[in-house]
Amino acid sequence: MTKTNHSMCSKCSKLICKTDLQAENDPLGEAPEYCPMKLWPGLLDEALEEYKKEENLECARLASIQEFECYEHTPQGIRTRHPRIEELIMFAQKCNYHKLGIAFCSGLEHEARLLTRILEKNGFEVVSVRCKVGAVPKEEIGIRPEEKIAGPEKWESMCNPILQAMILNAENVDLAIMLGLCIGHDTLFIKYCQRPITVLAVKDRVTGHNPLAALYLSSSYYRRLMKD
Ligand code: SF4
Repeated sequence: MTKTNHSMCSKCSKLICKTDLQAENDPLGEAPEYCPMKLWPGLLDEALEEYKKEENLECARLASIQEFECYEHTPQGIRTRHPRIEELIMFAQKCNYHKLGIAFCSGLEHEARLLTRILEKNGFEVVSVRCKVGAVPKEEIGIRPEEKIAGPEKWESMCNPILQAMILNAENVDLAIMLGLCIGHDTLFIKYCQRPITVLAVKDRVTGHNPLAALYLSSSYYRRLMKD
């Protein structure tokens, strides 16, 4: 099949995917040409087949219930109610997970300690692995002296997300939690981790690990992102 377009949901205002596709007026006909439901019709059935697998079905069902529980209906309207850490605890309990593994960045050791304490107080067994595990010098992956953060003469252990993943695999954790891994290191961690993964936080040194802050400011202080 020759594709004339790429999927571009982020540019769509039709939102046909939020309607009943079986309705008589053929809603899919109204979808834009770049709609992935038009471009990749066979994949919908393929994905639905995957949901029939017991472990996927249960995860999807519990995730949807978790999502539902994050809202409450009040006389003033619908309100949100759980921060992500609380959601993480609730979801892990729903899934009957007992052993949780934290893969954290050394720059977030305080947060890793807090997270461990909170998870333990909520009844979980917690395993944690720091990014510097292995104490492998950065030279091992081709980093030149002038590319070391602490300075050319200083020892610097490389971040080792592959080993972090391997250790959490070996520990057979029920759920691996990524906490502040750097961009790219997170890519490798996800590639090698064979356990179910979730993310509590991603690394953003400038915004207190809230990367969306820069997006929210992209029409003002971070206008440079728009190349205007
Ligand atoms: S799936 Fe189709 S209808 Fe839904 S947002 Fe994407 S392009 Fe729009």
